[in-house]
Amino acid sequence: MKRVAVLGSTGSIGRQAVEVIRANSGSLVVHSLVCNRNVDLLAAQSREFPGAVCGVLDPAASVPAGFLQGAGVTEEAVEGCDIVLNAFTGFAGLRASLLAARLEIPLALANKESLVTGGCLLADHIRKGLLSPVDSEHSTIARCLAGEAVRPLGVTLTASGGALRDLPLSSLADASPGMVLAHPTWSMGPRITVDSATLVNKAFEVIEARWLFPDLPVDAVLHPQSIVHSFVRLADGSWKALTGSPDMRVPIQYALLGGSGEPGLSMSDGPLDWPSLTFGRIDPARYPAYSIVIAAGELGGAAPVAANAADEVAVEAFLAGRIGFGRIPEVIENALGKTGAAPVSSYGDVLRADEEARARSRAFLGERC
Ligand code: MG
Repeated sequence: MKRVAVLGSTGSIGRQAVEVIRANSGSLVVHSLVCNRNVDLLAAQSREFPGAVCGVLDPAASVPAGFLQGAGVTEEAVEGCDIVLNAFTGFAGLRASLLAARLEIPLALANKESLVTGGCLLADHIRKGLLSPVDSEHSTIARCLAGEAVRPLGVTLTASGGALRDLPLSSLADASPGMVLAHPTWSMGPRITVDSATLVNKAFEVIEARWLFPDLPVDAVLHPQSIVHSFVRLADGSWKALTGSPDMRVPIQYALLGGSGEPGLSMSDGPLDWPSLTFGRIDPARYPAYSIVIAAGELGGAAPVAANAADEVAVEAFLAGRIGFGRIPEVIENALGKTGAAPVSSYGDVLRADEEARARSRAFLGERC
């Protein structure tokens, strides 16, 4: 039995992880459940898994007796577990990933900001084979690479193009949060859904892939149906892919089971719509933020940290109706312009770069810091 610490158990990935654990009750068990502040759902989850350690990060939330509370709950929640599923949202997830790395606990990583901002701090954990990606694209690449002894030529990520991919270019700048949040193929949390519409999410995934699969060239292609979950280009020029209906429970289950054993959940829901599959190039005019974040990833150091921080600020402002969709790339570009590529070699460096970029982005938007 593998004891799973589910960090971010009430979010989209966390809820699906609980479902995966329930369906694999012969090999997986909930060790702990941690959420930010959705106490009601956490309480419901705790009733299903009565032995689990439960923790709420928000010190101001009102929590039932027996629940842990405050910033330190993550440390207590991972103690004694066999694998950490990090499904925290945003930059705050990096601390939990570094904790797993420090304790040498296997990490199923759904928090992409961990690798975007702190990839260099997790490189050892990756080298030791202790990090399994939960992102569908990277999970696919890991599965395609399994059993391939010869170094492949590269990897190609697929991108759905987000909710606005068919909107006329002239209407893009004024798209509303409601339009952006109606993702055509994947059901996900609000920030990642906005990041899918700007393709910032895909640029982050390119950065993630560079850490997970070092020395392999990485690119991305548009694939609106999200049926092919990425490709590996093998040494002989063949392309290897994993296909299936878009369902995050697949990569979650693969990461938690470690690629071995009988899966408790099978997503076989009939034939796929093969004739409808299409692929296309990423249009820089439609997705200006994609190239900006890719360039930040190539610069390395503090640049991707700043890109992530600025994007978090911009997406929050967009969802709250304070800025238009078209201003998101501007906010990211502004933060990068002043950051350069200062080196990053500790959590403190990352934190400083993050805080500076957030403050700069808020000032740029005329918000109080
Ligand atoms: Mg993905």
